[in-house]
Formats: sequence, structure tokens, C-alpha cells
Amino acid sequence: MSEKNKIETPQDYFGENVFSLKVMENYLSEKAYKSLSQTIKSGGTLDPDIADEVADAMKTWAMSKGATHYTHWFQPLTGTTAEKHDSFISPDGEGGAILKFSGKELIQGEPDASSFPSGGLRSTFEARGYTGWDPTSPAFIKEGPKSATLCIPTYFIGWYGQALDKKTPLLRSMKALSTQVCRLAELFGINTKGKFASATLGGEQEYFLIDRDFYNQRIDLIQTGRTLFGKEPAKHQQMADHYFGAIKSRIMGFMEDLDREMWRLGAPVKTRHNEVAPSQYEVAPIFETLNLAVDHNMLCMEVMQKVAEKHGLACLLHEKPFAGVNGSGKHNNWSIVGPDGKNWLSPGDNPHENAKFLVTLCAVIKAVDTYAGILRASVASAANDHRLGSHEAPPAIISIFLGEQLTDIIEQIEKSEAKSSKKGGILEIGVDALPKLPRDATDRNRTSPFAFTGAKFEFRAVGSSMSLAGPNIVLNTIVAEALDEICVQLEADKKAKKDFNASVQKILRDIIKKHKRVIFNGDNYTESWVKEAEKRGLPNLRTTPEALEELNTPKAVGLFEKYGVLSKEELKSRYEVYVETYQTIIDYEAKLSADMAKIKIIPTVVAYQEELANTIS
Ligand code: ADP
Ligand code: MG
Repeated sequence: MSEKNKIETPQDYFGENVFSLKVMENYLSEKAYKSLSQTIKSGGTLDPDIADEVADAMKTWAMSKGATHYTHWFQPLTGTTAEKHDSFISPDGEGGAILKFSGKELIQGEPDASSFPSGGLRSTFEARGYTGWDPTSPAFIKEGPKSATLCIPTYFIGWYGQALDKKTPLLRSMKALSTQVCRLAELFGINTKGKFASATLGGEQEYFLIDRDFYNQRIDLIQTGRTLFGKEPAKHQQMADHYFGAIKSRIMGFMEDLDREMWRLGAPVKTRHNEVAPSQYEVAPIFETLNLAVDHNMLCMEVMQKVAEKHGLACLLHEKPFAGVNGSGKHNNWSIVGPDGKNWLSPGDNPHENAKFLVTLCAVIKAVDTYAGILRASVASAANDHRLGSHEAPPAIISIFLGEQLTDIIEQIEKSEAKSSKKGGILEIGVDALPKLPRDATDRNRTSPFAFTGAKFEFRAVGSSMSLAGPNIVLNTIVAEALDEICVQLEADKKAKKDFNASVQKILRDIIKKHKRVIFNGDNYTESWVKEAEKRGLPNLRTTPEALEELNTPKAVGLFEKYGVLSKEELKSRYEVYVETYQTIIDYEAKLSADMAKIKIIPTVVAYQEELANTIS
């Protein structure tokens, strides 16, 4: 085939709008490239000495993509993304212009922060806010109708360094998790020098697509994202004929464009399919490092809106746009990559790895049971309230599904203490004698809010429109604490020259005894589970106001302060913002309902009454 007729493949354009390591190599000196790639790999901050060179390279590359402006792209507490554009233009003093982008401008931006919600952290007279580049998330290009903008993913903090966004605590929580995982790694004899641990995330995104003309006729959809009035159609999802059904060509056109745009942005979207409700769909990526995956999901939600508009469609990300059919969620697939580069939630099949796996698994069990309320609070919103516990999504009770195989192993570990001797043929679940764990031995349980699925945990209560940052800030921090407490014990035992296998066993056994109440493999949608959970003492925080109170407790303050994720003031500010957001939504939905009744429904009813009356007379 001649070059001209060559068919374009995704490989040709994957990542073409990203200033990735691969691209940087062509634009930077060897010294700057080495320094920057080290910064990116280790999650550090940019060396100021190379900032000017990096900025200039970024500008040159961005201009080759048609960029005239740059922006720091950040994630305020509104739950969406924010940007303020500045052009590269600078007058040359002789009536012309030069195009400039300095290291200073790359490293730090200074948007007026006064109009973003801060929950009292900052008042309008202290409006200064700073954005700073997170080099672990690469700069990318956003295309406009005529030109393009260079976007630099940044965190957003106030004058005193207080976090005003979702990225700052997310990065802090990743650091906290890394510290504790590395500490445990050392105990397992894994070299952690110059290494770090990380978390991985794959976020499955559900959404609705409806014709834009219909959408434009519904003021409630436009303003609130959901229909406040409506009637269930005679046929909707009863036949389960939409789920995984053949994709109609108009929708396919949308999906093809979405995939392409996301690939150009270097986001590895992988799966696309029809979901349960009519007009409901899903897109899922291949998992990535946590903060990058969060950024990519934020971008994906934005690109979906644009692509839908191009196709004469409206993309609804609301958790419950239509009563009577399933709403949309976002499955949060989370795991840990240790300093050895391996997935620590992969059961594996050699005993040494198993011990590492079982300790990690038990740390998650301990964390989720101890902080079920805070985890629940991380997915609380007015919209998600319509979904959780409605027999289409997990209930508000947080429990863990482990599956038969792992539950059996957990039960064995728990029992082995009762039989204190090794005699009698009872299996000792020591580090060196762990049972082989087959990969993917778990069945699926769609009703569980927090399910172990092969080599990761899947938190399924997250809402479709939410930022994935919130739930992962909580997950990282609570697991960091569980690992911390495990390490304290293991280190003390080591100092006392106790047998390592025995101390691991004892720790696991104690955790299982104390926290097994959170494990539930049955149907989470049943009324009997609600009763059983109550008996077990598991919290059932049905509504957002109840759930958010969990953030307003000394327990929550203690947790987030201890690991430097959120100070008391920062947490309080988040609580205030979320409560206010909830109240605002409930308030405007009520006002709009009343308006719609007055302006649209009552006049129609009265007109029809008149028609009937006329007919009678
Ligand atoms: P489903 O839940 O639809 O059956 P999969 O199990 O195939 O889907 O995966 C769902 C998501 O989980 C995907 O985004 C996938 O990349 C992600 N995932 C798989 N392994 C990991 C991991 N180790 N860490 C984080 N996410 C993962
Ligand atoms: Mg899933």
C-alpha cells in the first residue's frame, strides 16, 4: 500500500495531544529530559533549574498543535474542572509580538480563588489561590473550533497552602499509602531504596445518551440533569434486551468519536457497551496510576459532552436521570502496586507472595470495616441518593464481597488459632505454608458495594457524575492506616525476635476476628441483609446528610490529620461545601418542580378541563 493510501490506525494517533515522555525526548536537552523523567517517575516536583527549558519546549510543541493559549487545569471542590486561559502573546515593544511561556508560568499559576467554594477556608478579601503543576500528569492539548489550548494539570491551594481542590489531598493520600506499603515491603525483605508504591485505578463510566431535540424540550433535564416529572414507559428495561445489545449506528458514531478523542489524549479507553436501561451505555479504560486515571476520567466526562453535541445527542452523567429505570454509577477498580512493581492484591501462586497478598487483603478488610461510614460519605450526593439502595445499585451499607475461595481461606486463618497444635492434620496457614490461591477464583456478585474481583477491589457505590478523587482519597488513607498499625506490630515482634510467620498469622487472625462482620457474600439487595447488617452493627447511612456527618467527627479528623491528607480545617471546609451543595440541589429541584407545575402542568390540566366541560355542555 502506498503511504498515501495507508489506513490510519489508533497507534498512529494515540497520545498525539499529550506532552508525554516520548514527545519530550525530542524537545528537551538530555539533562533536562533525564531530570524531568525522574521527577515524573518518582512523583516529585519539577527542578526549578530546568523549568524554563521545559516550559519553552512545551510551548513549541503546543504551538505545533495550533495552541495560542495555555491554562492551568485544576479540580476545585465543585467536583468539575476549571481553567483560565492566558495567551503566549507578549508585545515586543516595537509594535509586534513575541510568544512566550516561562518556567515560572508553568510551575505556578495564580487564579483569583474567591468564587470557588472553599467552605470558609478563604474569604473574598483573601482571594489568592495558587495552582501548581503535577508533573505526574502530563500536559495535553484541548482543541477549540479554530485554535488549541495547552492544558497543564495542576493542584489548587490557598495563600496558606490549604487544599482548595481534589487533587492536592489525592496526591497526599497516595504518598501516605506509598510510605506504609514500603514499610511493609521492608518487613517482607523487599528492597525499597529509591522506590515507591502506588495505587492503580480503572474507572468504569456509565452514561445516558438522548436525542438533543428531546433534551432541549426538558427544562428539568437541562437545569438539574434529571427529569423531575415523568411517566414510566410501558416497556423499558423489563426484557433486559438492552444490556450488551447490538449497538445502534448513531450511538456507534458517538462511541467511535469518543474513543478516538480519548486515545488522542493518551487515555486508554478500552471497553464500550450498552447498559441495562434503554439509552444507557458504558465506557471503561485500562487501569492506570491513580491520579492519572482520575484526571483521565475528568477529561472523559468533558469530552463525552462535546462529542454528544456533535452527534445531535445529549450525554447525561446524572446518577438518576429517569425514575423507574436503572441509574448510572462509576465502578472504582482499585489496587496497590508495591515497590517491587507487582500488584499486591493479586493472589498469585507462590507462598511468599500469598503472605504479602493476605496482609494487604486483611488491611483492606480492617480499613473498610473501621471506616465504612467515611467511605460511604465519599460517595454521598443528592443525585446518588436516588440510586444507592434502589435495587439497581449497592445499598448504603458498606460490606465486602470476597467470594467463596477467599472466604474459605479467611475462615481457615481464623480457625487455626483454636487448634493450637499442628497435630491432627490441620493446615497451618503460615507464611511458608499458605494454600495455593488460584487466580480469578472469585465469582461475581453485582450487588456488593465493595467486591474483590480477581486482583483488585471494586467500589461500586460511586456515582456516575462524581470525581473519582473523593473515594480514592478515603481508600488510600484508610488502608494506609491499617497497614501502619500492622507494621507497628510486625516491627515490635521483629524487635522481640519473634517468629515472623507466627506474628503474621496472629495479626491476620486478630484482624479477621475483629472485622469479619464486614464480609458478606450474599445478595445485598434483600431486606434480610438490611436486618442482618443491623445485627452486625454495620452502619446504614441512607441519605447524604446522614452520611456527610461522618466527615464531621473527631474520628475523621484524626485519620486525615495523622496522615497529612487533610488538616482539621481542610476537612471541615469540605464538609461545609458538600452540605451546602446538597442543600442547594434539593432547593433548586423543589423550586423548579413548583415552577414547572405552575407554568406547564396546571395550565394544561385547566385547558383540558375546559375542553371536557365544553364537550359536556
Ligand atoms: P468488569 O467489572 O466490567 O467485569 P474488568 O474486571 O475487566 O471489568 O475490569 C474493570 C476495570 O478494572 C477496568 O477498567 C480494568 O482496567 C480495571 N482493572 C483491572 N485490573 C486492575 C488493577 N490491578 N487495578 C486497578 N484497576 C484494574
Ligand atoms: Mg465493574
